[in-house]
Parts: sequence; structure tokens; C-alpha cells
Amino acid sequence: MKVKFLDLSRQHSGLRKNLERSFSNSIRRSHFILGKDVSLFEREFADFCSAKYAVGVNSGTDALFLSLLSLGIGQGDEVIVPVFTFIATAMAVSHTGARPVFVDINPSNYNIDANKIEGAITPKTKAIIPVHLFGQAADMQPILDIAAKHNLNVIEDACQAHGSKYKFPAGGEKFAGNMGDAGCFSFYPTKNLGACGDGGLVTTNNENVYKKLLMLRDCGRKLRYEHSIIGYNSRLDAIQAAILRKKLKQLNKWNQKRRSIAAIYTKALQGVPELILPAQENYAYHVYNSYTIRANSRNELCEKLGKNGIGTSIYYDIALHLQEAYKNLGYKKGDFLNAEKASRQVFSLPLHPYLLDKEIKFVIKSLTNLFKRGGL
Ligand SMILES: *Cc1c(COP(=O)(O)O)cnc(C)c1O
Repeated sequence: MKVKFLDLSRQHSGLRKNLERSFSNSIRRSHFILGKDVSLFEREFADFCSAKYAVGVNSGTDALFLSLLSLGIGQGDEVIVPVFTFIATAMAVSHTGARPVFVDINPSNYNIDANKIEGAITPKTKAIIPVHLFGQAADMQPILDIAAKHNLNVIEDACQAHGSKYKFPAGGEKFAGNMGDAGCFSFYPTKNLGACGDGGLVTTNNENVYKKLLMLRDCGRKLRYEHSIIGYNSRLDAIQAAILRKKLKQLNKWNQKRRSIAAIYTKALQGVPELILPAQENYAYHVYNSYTIRANSRNELCEKLGKNGIGTSIYYDIALHLQEAYKNLGYKKGDFLNAEKASRQVFSLPLHPYLLDKEIKFVIKSLTNLFKRGGL
């Protein structure tokens, strides 16, 4: 049997009629830039997260970049970023002219270690970007407390966490993307909510940030040809917005399915001593953008699973401080031991809402057999 790591065509074959209808409606209306589908999607996604405002942009990277700009962050500033994430989190900071300052992760949930944030704060620090990695919210209460104490902005990277939630220690819960000054989402096709192309969005409850974002994404426009700031062209495509409106209706169901597959994996694999399974924190409603596990023999396991027809993926095998692109920041090997260890050990199993029961069983059987045979 072959089990692909991800099979987006299954998602689209189920929705095809529906998506084709949106697509042909868009063509018929021929209103391709901003317009009704973009503003309706913004309203619907803001409501989904219980946020006041949402602004569609052209990618998750730009959601981060424009959020930073909307808060006035730039040259001479520092922004705290977890060292174990997709490079876009840091890249967005660099493009504003500010400097990303890395902080190590909590080794059990892969999110920024809140206990290490204060050690990285300097007089130049302006913001913290917690990432809700793999679909699980970072521990937000301590992060928000530190930010309040030091007067820092919080920009959430929720690019892997559409529909994820955080439970506050004092009670109550909030959606990922609705806890800081801005929440950044990507609609890259592999995300929990993915477009048929690129797309992104920022949620916020701050009217000033909202108004600034509307201008930044659309050439600094105040009126049609009146430009009050030097902006960008970073609009969410109207056809993508129409498609995302259809897919948003499925998101809760898809996330529940992801969670139930994760529960099956966890139940079946918890007896394998060589594997460390994802920690499901009590404060988090985890939406499993990926089911990421770790093992010392990671490379060998991935290779053998591959030979059995099972696709795996590694998020991420190089921590950001060791990326060539960030050589100039002056970090070295050994600076962030938890992230470095994770980057040697993590790998992700196939998990998407259209994975079949027999495929889940096959993945479990193949993986557990590798250990039973004593081959590793
Ligand atoms: C996908 C992703 C991004 C960037 O999103 P794009 O839409 O690809 O620009 C940023 N941060 C994280 C954590 C991501 O997973």
C-alpha cells in the first residue's frame, strides 16, 4: 500500500462541484481584485476566530510582515521569535529592518519557552511573535504577562493553527490569532485551511492596526488614487477568497477529523518506547496541522517507512540560528540545545482529514513492525 504524506486531491475531489461553482461565479462577475468575496471572507474568518477585524493579504509571510509594520516596527528594533519554526516567521521581521532575536523552545511541545523570553529582552525589543507550531497553541498567558510588563506587542503566528484554541489559567478560552495585537494566518494549500494557491490574513481587535493594514496591503491607498503612505501590493486574491469561503465551512469538521486521527496514532504508538509522541497540553485545543513525533533513529525510520510506501516529512531539520540566511546574526551551534535536538529527531506522519482508516492502520503497523523486528 502507498500512503502519501499529504493528498490534497482528495480534499478537492469531494468539494469539486462546490469550488467550480465559486470559480465560475467569480469569472462571471469578473471582479478579481478585493470586492465582495474578499470582504465576506474577511468577515466570516474574523467571526470564526471571534475577532473584530480581519484583513486578507497575499500570504502568511505578508500577514506577519504587514502586522509588524502596522505596529510601527522597523530599523533598529528587535523582535523575539522562536528558533524552531518555518523561516517566514523570522524573514518577516528581517524585511521590516528589525532584527529577529531567537529564543529556544520547550522540548515537549516545540513552542517558544516562555521562561526564556525575558532573558532575550533588551531596550530595543518591541514585540514577541509566539508561533502555534504544528497546530498547538503556545502557552500564551505567561507570554502576554511578559509583554504587558515590558510594554511589547504580541503578534501571533497562527499559520499552522486555524481553529486552535488556548485555555487561560484563570478560565475562558480564545482562538489562536485572537490573543495578541495581531494574528497571522496562511492559506498555503497544506495548512488546516488552504487556498488553491497562496493567501493569508491578519485578525486584530485593534482598529488602528486594522486601518493601517487596509492601507499597507493596497498601495497605501486612502482613496482610489490618493495614497497616504508607501504601501505594498499584498491583497488576498478574490478567486482564492471565494474558494476559502467554501472551505471555511468545512474547517471545524476537518480539525475534528485531524484530532481523531491523532488520537488513534497516539493510542497505538504510546507503547513504543523509542518514540516520543506529541504532548497534548491541557491548555491547548490542538488542531494537528502535523502529527510530529521524535526518535533518535529518525533518518533511518523515515527511510524505512519510505521503502514501505509511507510518506513522512521533517519540520524542521535546521533550526533558524543555523540557517545560512541567518549567518549574519552571529549565532552558533550549541546556542539553542532544545531546538537543535528537535531538529535531529522530529518527523511527521501522514495526517490529513481524508486519510483512510486502512491507511492509518498501515502506517501504525509499518512503524511498530520496524521496532518489533529489532531492526533499529
Ligand atoms: C506557512 C507558514 C508561514 C508562511 O505562510 P506563507 O503563506 O507560506 O507565506 C509562516 N509561519 C509558519 C509557522 C508557517 O507554517
